Amino acid sequence: MGGRVLVVGSYNQDHVWSTDALPAPGATRLGRYATGPGGKGFNQAVAAARAGANTVFIAALGDDAAAAQARRLATADGIDLRDQVCPGLATGCAGIYVDADGRNMILVAPGANAALSADFVLAQQDALDSAGVLLAQLEVAPEAVLAALQAGRERGALTLLNPAPADAPTSAALLQAADLLTPNETEFAALLARHAGRELAAEQLATLDEGALHDACRALAPQASVVLTLGADGAFVSHGHHRHGDTRGYYRAPAAPADTVDTTGAGDAFSGALAAALAGGMTPFAEAVAFANRYAARSTERAGAALAMPRLDELDG
Ligand code: ATP
Repeated sequence: MGGRVLVVGSYNQDHVWSTDALPAPGATRLGRYATGPGGKGFNQAVAAARAGANTVFIAALGDDAAAAQARRLATADGIDLRDQVCPGLATGCAGIYVDADGRNMILVAPGANAALSADFVLAQQDALDSAGVLLAQLEVAPEAVLAALQAGRERGALTLLNPAPADAPTSAALLQAADLLTPNETEFAALLARHAGRELAAEQLATLDEGALHDACRALAPQASVVLTLGADGAFVSHGHHRHGDTRGYYRAPAAPADTVDTTGAGDAFSGALAAALAGGMTPFAEAVAFANRYAARSTERAGAALAMPRLDELDG
Protein backbone atom coordinates (compact mmCIF):
# COMPACT_ATOMS: atom_id res chain seq x y z
CA MET A 1 0.00 0.00 0.00
CA GLY A 2 3.02 2.21 0.46
CA GLY A 3 1.67 4.95 2.76
CA ARG A 4 3.68 6.26 5.71
CA VAL A 5 2.70 5.30 9.25
CA LEU A 6 4.42 6.65 12.35
CA VAL A 7 3.79 4.52 15.43
CA VAL A 8 4.58 5.95 18.87
CA GLY A 9 4.35 3.33 21.57
CA SER A 10 5.59 0.48 23.69
CA TYR A 11 7.96 -2.41 23.15
CA ASN A 12 7.64 -5.35 25.57
CA GLN A 13 9.32 -8.68 25.85
CA ASP A 14 6.34 -11.08 26.02
CA HIS A 15 6.45 -14.21 28.18
CA VAL A 16 3.58 -16.41 27.03
CA TRP A 17 2.13 -19.40 28.88
CA SER A 18 -0.43 -21.57 27.06
CA THR A 19 -2.64 -23.76 29.23
CA ASP A 20 -5.92 -25.72 28.91
CA ALA A 21 -7.72 -23.45 31.43
CA LEU A 22 -6.55 -20.22 33.07
CA PRO A 23 -5.49 -20.75 36.73
CA ALA A 24 -7.84 -19.40 39.40
CA PRO A 25 -6.21 -17.13 42.04
CA GLY A 26 -4.08 -19.31 44.33
CA ALA A 27 -4.08 -22.26 41.91
CA THR A 28 -1.13 -23.80 40.01
CA ARG A 29 -1.50 -25.35 36.55
CA LEU A 30 0.86 -26.86 34.01
CA GLY A 31 1.35 -25.11 30.70
CA ARG A 32 3.73 -24.47 27.78
CA TYR A 33 6.07 -21.42 27.68
CA ALA A 34 7.44 -19.23 24.92
CA THR A 35 8.99 -15.76 24.79
CA GLY A 36 8.98 -13.16 22.03
CA PRO A 37 8.43 -9.51 21.19
CA GLY A 38 5.25 -7.60 21.98
CA GLY A 39 3.90 -4.36 23.40
CA LYS A 40 0.99 -2.64 21.73
CA GLY A 41 3.30 -0.18 19.97
CA PHE A 42 5.57 -2.82 18.46
CA ASN A 43 2.64 -5.13 17.60
CA GLN A 44 0.94 -2.29 15.75
CA ALA A 45 4.17 -1.24 14.03
CA VAL A 46 4.70 -4.80 12.77
CA ALA A 47 1.07 -4.99 11.65
CA ALA A 48 1.35 -1.67 9.78
CA ALA A 49 4.63 -2.74 8.14
CA ARG A 50 3.37 -6.20 7.14
CA ALA A 51 0.14 -4.63 5.87
CA GLY A 52 2.29 -2.66 3.45
CA ALA A 53 3.09 0.70 5.08
CA ASN A 54 6.49 2.36 5.32
CA THR A 55 6.66 2.35 9.09
CA VAL A 56 8.63 4.37 11.63
CA PHE A 57 8.40 3.26 15.27
CA ILE A 58 9.32 5.58 18.15
CA ALA A 59 9.88 3.72 21.44
CA ALA A 60 11.91 3.75 24.67
CA LEU A 61 14.09 0.72 25.44
CA GLY A 62 16.22 -0.37 28.38
CA ASP A 63 19.91 -1.15 28.11
CA ASP A 64 19.48 -4.95 27.97
CA ALA A 65 19.12 -8.05 25.82
CA ALA A 66 15.44 -7.37 25.12
CA ALA A 67 16.41 -3.99 23.58
CA ALA A 68 18.92 -5.69 21.29
CA GLN A 69 16.19 -8.09 20.19
CA ALA A 70 13.82 -5.17 19.54
CA ARG A 71 16.39 -3.60 17.19
CA ARG A 72 17.01 -6.90 15.37
CA LEU A 73 13.31 -7.58 14.90
CA ALA A 74 12.49 -4.07 13.74
CA THR A 75 15.23 -4.31 11.12
CA ALA A 76 13.95 -7.73 10.00
CA ASP A 77 10.50 -6.23 9.34
CA GLY A 78 11.88 -3.15 7.61
CA ILE A 79 10.71 -0.88 10.45
CA ASP A 80 12.66 2.35 10.99
CA LEU A 81 13.09 2.17 14.81
CA ARG A 82 13.87 5.43 16.62
CA ASP A 83 14.69 4.29 20.15
CA GLN A 84 15.27 6.40 23.21
CA VAL A 85 17.76 4.41 25.29
CA CYS A 86 17.02 4.48 29.04
CA PRO A 87 20.10 3.35 31.03
CA GLY A 88 19.24 1.71 34.35
CA LEU A 89 15.73 0.76 33.24
CA ALA A 90 14.57 -2.63 31.97
CA THR A 91 12.86 -2.89 28.61
CA GLY A 92 9.12 -3.35 29.20
CA CYS A 93 7.86 -6.90 29.66
CA ALA A 94 4.51 -8.71 29.79
CA GLY A 95 3.25 -12.02 31.20
CA ILE A 96 0.51 -13.46 28.96
CA TYR A 97 -1.63 -16.49 29.78
CA VAL A 98 -3.75 -18.05 27.02
CA ASP A 99 -6.32 -20.84 27.43
CA ALA A 100 -7.46 -23.50 24.98
CA ASP A 101 -10.34 -21.27 23.79
CA GLY A 102 -7.95 -18.45 22.91
CA ARG A 103 -8.93 -16.26 25.90
CA ASN A 104 -6.08 -14.35 27.52
CA MET A 105 -4.97 -12.65 30.76
CA ILE A 106 -2.06 -10.16 30.65
CA LEU A 107 0.19 -8.47 33.25
CA VAL A 108 2.59 -5.72 32.08
CA ALA A 109 5.72 -4.17 33.71
CA PRO A 110 6.25 -0.92 31.73
CA GLY A 111 9.98 -0.38 32.45
CA ALA A 112 11.48 1.99 29.87
CA ASN A 113 8.10 2.53 28.17
CA ALA A 114 7.06 4.81 31.03
CA ALA A 115 10.13 7.00 30.40
CA LEU A 116 9.47 7.81 26.73
CA SER A 117 9.77 11.60 26.62
CA ALA A 118 7.84 14.18 24.61
CA ASP A 119 11.18 15.80 23.72
CA PHE A 120 12.48 12.58 22.17
CA VAL A 121 9.28 12.20 20.13
CA LEU A 122 9.33 15.81 18.95
CA ALA A 123 13.01 15.48 17.95
CA GLN A 124 12.00 12.96 15.23
CA GLN A 125 10.98 15.81 12.96
CA ASP A 126 11.46 14.07 9.63
CA ALA A 127 9.21 11.22 10.74
CA LEU A 128 6.53 13.61 12.00
CA ASP A 129 6.69 15.64 8.80
CA SER A 130 6.27 12.70 6.45
CA ALA A 131 3.68 10.61 8.35
CA GLY A 132 0.33 10.07 6.63
CA VAL A 133 -1.07 8.45 9.78
CA LEU A 134 0.25 8.85 13.30
CA LEU A 135 -0.77 5.89 15.47
CA ALA A 136 -0.43 5.82 19.27
CA GLN A 137 -1.64 3.76 22.24
CA LEU A 138 -1.46 4.29 26.01
CA GLU A 139 1.36 2.00 27.20
CA VAL A 140 3.98 4.79 27.24
CA ALA A 141 4.25 8.09 29.17
CA PRO A 142 0.98 10.03 28.59
CA GLU A 143 2.78 13.32 27.87
CA ALA A 144 4.70 11.64 25.02
CA VAL A 145 1.44 10.36 23.51
CA LEU A 146 -0.24 13.76 23.72
CA ALA A 147 2.80 15.52 22.22
CA ALA A 148 2.94 12.97 19.39
CA LEU A 149 -0.75 13.32 18.50
CA GLN A 150 -0.68 17.11 18.63
CA ALA A 151 2.53 17.35 16.58
CA GLY A 152 1.24 14.80 14.08
CA ARG A 153 -1.99 16.72 13.54
CA GLU A 154 -0.15 20.05 13.21
CA ARG A 155 1.95 18.55 10.44
CA GLY A 156 -1.02 17.16 8.54
CA ALA A 157 -1.11 13.49 9.64
CA LEU A 158 -4.36 11.71 10.42
CA THR A 159 -4.09 10.94 14.14
CA LEU A 160 -5.26 7.51 15.32
CA LEU A 161 -5.40 6.69 19.03
CA ASN A 162 -5.93 3.11 20.16
CA PRO A 163 -6.97 3.95 23.77
CA ALA A 164 -5.53 0.80 25.33
CA PRO A 165 -5.14 -0.48 27.98
CA ALA A 166 -8.50 0.45 29.52
CA ASP A 167 -7.05 1.57 32.86
CA ALA A 168 -4.46 3.97 31.39
CA PRO A 169 -4.98 7.63 32.32
CA THR A 170 -6.71 9.75 29.68
CA SER A 171 -7.60 13.44 29.39
CA ALA A 172 -10.01 15.52 27.35
CA ALA A 173 -6.99 17.02 25.52
CA LEU A 174 -5.81 13.53 24.55
CA LEU A 175 -9.19 12.55 23.09
CA GLN A 176 -9.43 15.88 21.25
CA ALA A 177 -6.01 15.29 19.66
CA ALA A 178 -7.26 12.12 17.95
CA ASP A 179 -9.06 12.15 14.58
CA LEU A 180 -9.84 8.48 15.01
CA LEU A 181 -10.27 6.21 18.07
CA THR A 182 -10.16 2.40 18.03
CA PRO A 183 -11.26 1.16 21.49
CA ASN A 184 -12.40 -2.37 22.24
CA GLU A 185 -15.57 -2.80 24.32
CA THR A 186 -13.81 -2.63 27.70
CA GLU A 187 -11.85 0.48 26.73
CA PHE A 188 -14.94 2.12 25.27
CA ALA A 189 -16.96 1.52 28.46
CA ALA A 190 -14.12 2.93 30.60
CA LEU A 191 -13.80 6.05 28.43
CA LEU A 192 -17.58 6.60 28.39
CA ALA A 193 -17.72 6.50 32.19
CA ARG A 194 -14.69 8.76 32.58
CA HIS A 195 -15.33 11.36 29.88
CA ALA A 196 -19.07 11.27 29.13
CA GLY A 197 -20.45 10.33 32.57
CA ARG A 198 -22.25 7.31 31.09
CA GLU A 199 -22.16 4.01 32.96
CA LEU A 200 -22.51 1.11 30.53
CA ALA A 201 -21.07 -2.36 31.15
CA ALA A 202 -18.79 -3.53 28.32
CA GLU A 203 -21.07 -6.58 27.87
CA GLN A 204 -24.10 -4.29 27.38
CA LEU A 205 -22.59 -2.71 24.28
CA ALA A 206 -23.33 -5.75 22.11
CA THR A 207 -27.04 -5.44 23.00
CA LEU A 208 -27.36 -1.77 21.94
CA ASP A 209 -28.84 -0.92 18.56
CA GLU A 210 -26.75 1.01 16.06
CA GLY A 211 -28.40 4.36 16.84
CA ALA A 212 -27.68 4.02 20.56
CA LEU A 213 -24.07 2.99 19.87
CA HIS A 214 -23.63 5.99 17.59
CA ASP A 215 -25.05 8.30 20.30
CA ALA A 216 -22.57 6.86 22.82
CA CYS A 217 -19.67 7.40 20.40
CA ARG A 218 -20.75 10.98 19.75
CA ALA A 219 -21.03 11.65 23.50
CA LEU A 220 -17.48 10.41 23.95
CA ALA A 221 -15.80 12.08 20.98
CA PRO A 222 -18.02 14.66 19.25
CA GLN A 223 -15.54 15.38 16.43
CA ALA A 224 -13.61 12.16 15.96
CA SER A 225 -14.53 8.96 14.16
CA VAL A 226 -14.80 5.97 16.49
CA VAL A 227 -14.18 2.40 15.36
CA LEU A 228 -15.32 0.20 18.22
CA THR A 229 -13.85 -3.28 17.85
CA LEU A 230 -16.23 -6.10 18.83
CA GLY A 231 -14.07 -9.23 18.70
CA ALA A 232 -15.74 -11.98 16.65
CA ASP A 233 -18.54 -9.50 15.82
CA GLY A 234 -16.15 -7.26 13.89
CA ALA A 235 -16.45 -3.50 14.44
CA PHE A 236 -18.89 -0.61 14.71
CA VAL A 237 -18.02 2.64 12.92
CA SER A 238 -19.35 6.03 14.04
CA HIS A 239 -18.22 9.18 12.26
CA GLY A 240 -18.05 12.69 13.69
CA HIS A 241 -17.25 15.72 11.55
CA HIS A 242 -15.53 13.76 8.77
CA ARG A 243 -16.85 10.62 7.14
CA HIS A 244 -13.57 9.90 5.33
CA GLY A 245 -15.37 9.04 2.09
CA ASP A 246 -18.19 7.00 3.65
CA THR A 247 -21.80 7.76 2.74
CA ARG A 248 -23.18 6.45 6.04
CA GLY A 249 -22.52 8.18 9.36
CA TYR A 250 -22.51 4.90 11.28
CA TYR A 251 -22.63 1.18 10.51
CA ARG A 252 -21.51 -2.28 11.59
CA ALA A 253 -18.60 -3.94 9.79
CA PRO A 254 -18.78 -7.73 10.22
CA ALA A 255 -15.70 -9.78 11.18
CA ALA A 256 -14.01 -11.91 8.56
CA PRO A 257 -14.19 -15.69 9.04
CA ALA A 258 -11.26 -17.16 11.00
CA ASP A 259 -10.09 -20.45 12.51
CA THR A 260 -9.16 -18.67 15.72
CA VAL A 261 -6.47 -20.17 17.95
CA ASP A 262 -5.25 -17.06 19.86
CA THR A 263 -6.79 -13.58 19.93
CA THR A 264 -3.73 -11.99 21.62
CA GLY A 265 -2.89 -8.89 19.60
CA ALA A 266 -6.08 -8.95 17.50
CA GLY A 267 -6.82 -5.36 18.49
CA ASP A 268 -3.24 -4.38 17.61
CA ALA A 269 -3.53 -6.12 14.25
CA PHE A 270 -6.73 -4.18 13.60
CA SER A 271 -5.30 -0.74 14.48
CA GLY A 272 -2.02 -1.33 12.62
CA ALA A 273 -3.81 -2.55 9.49
CA LEU A 274 -6.34 0.29 9.60
CA ALA A 275 -3.49 2.81 9.86
CA ALA A 276 -1.70 1.20 6.90
CA ALA A 277 -4.86 1.18 4.79
CA LEU A 278 -5.67 4.82 5.52
CA ALA A 279 -2.07 5.97 5.02
CA GLY A 280 -2.08 4.13 1.69
CA GLY A 281 -5.13 6.11 0.58
CA MET A 282 -7.67 3.27 0.73
CA THR A 283 -11.16 4.76 0.39
CA PRO A 284 -13.93 4.86 1.33
CA PHE A 285 -13.30 4.38 5.04
CA ALA A 286 -15.55 1.27 5.06
CA GLU A 287 -13.04 -0.39 2.68
CA ALA A 288 -10.19 0.30 5.11
CA VAL A 289 -12.25 -1.10 8.02
CA ALA A 290 -13.09 -4.24 6.02
CA PHE A 291 -9.37 -4.65 5.30
CA ALA A 292 -8.55 -4.25 9.02
CA ASN A 293 -11.21 -6.86 9.89
CA ARG A 294 -9.69 -9.31 7.38
CA TYR A 295 -6.18 -8.61 8.61
CA ALA A 296 -7.11 -8.98 12.32
CA ALA A 297 -9.10 -12.18 11.68
CA ARG A 298 -6.08 -13.74 10.01
CA SER A 299 -3.85 -12.69 12.95
CA THR A 300 -6.01 -14.78 15.33
CA GLU A 301 -5.20 -17.96 13.40
CA ARG A 302 -1.64 -18.11 14.81
CA ALA A 303 -0.38 -18.02 18.40
CA GLY A 304 1.51 -14.90 19.53
CA ALA A 305 1.29 -11.15 18.99
CA ALA A 306 3.87 -9.26 16.89
CA LEU A 307 5.27 -12.35 15.17
CA ALA A 308 1.76 -13.63 14.38
CA MET A 309 0.94 -10.60 12.25
CA PRO A 310 0.13 -11.76 8.72
CA ARG A 311 1.75 -10.45 5.56
CA LEU A 312 -0.34 -9.05 2.71
CA ASP A 313 0.03 -12.18 0.59
CA GLU A 314 -1.52 -14.27 3.40
CA LEU A 315 -4.85 -12.40 3.24
CA ASP A 316 -7.82 -13.66 1.21
CA GLY A 317 -9.22 -11.39 -1.45
P1 ATP B 1 -6.95 -8.36 22.15
O1 ATP B 1 -6.99 -7.66 23.48
O2 ATP B 1 -7.30 -9.83 22.22
O3 ATP B 1 -5.73 -8.08 21.36
P2 ATP B 1 -9.03 -6.53 21.54
O4 ATP B 1 -9.96 -6.83 22.67
O5 ATP B 1 -8.24 -5.28 21.60
O6 ATP B 1 -8.09 -7.75 21.24
P3 ATP B 1 -11.12 -7.29 19.74
O7 ATP B 1 -12.27 -6.35 19.64
O8 ATP B 1 -11.30 -8.54 20.53
O9 ATP B 1 -9.85 -6.46 20.19
O10 ATP B 1 -10.66 -7.74 18.27
C1 ATP B 1 -10.12 -6.81 17.35
C2 ATP B 1 -10.51 -7.23 15.96
O11 ATP B 1 -9.96 -8.53 15.69
C3 ATP B 1 -11.99 -7.37 15.72
O12 ATP B 1 -12.56 -6.10 15.40
C4 ATP B 1 -12.02 -8.35 14.56
O13 ATP B 1 -11.75 -7.68 13.36
C5 ATP B 1 -10.83 -9.27 14.88
N1 ATP B 1 -11.24 -10.48 15.62
C6 ATP B 1 -11.12 -10.71 16.95
N2 ATP B 1 -11.59 -11.93 17.28
C7 ATP B 1 -12.01 -12.50 16.12
C8 ATP B 1 -12.58 -13.76 15.76
N3 ATP B 1 -12.83 -14.70 16.68
N4 ATP B 1 -12.88 -13.97 14.45
C9 ATP B 1 -12.63 -13.04 13.51
N5 ATP B 1 -12.09 -11.84 13.78
C10 ATP B 1 -11.78 -11.56 15.05
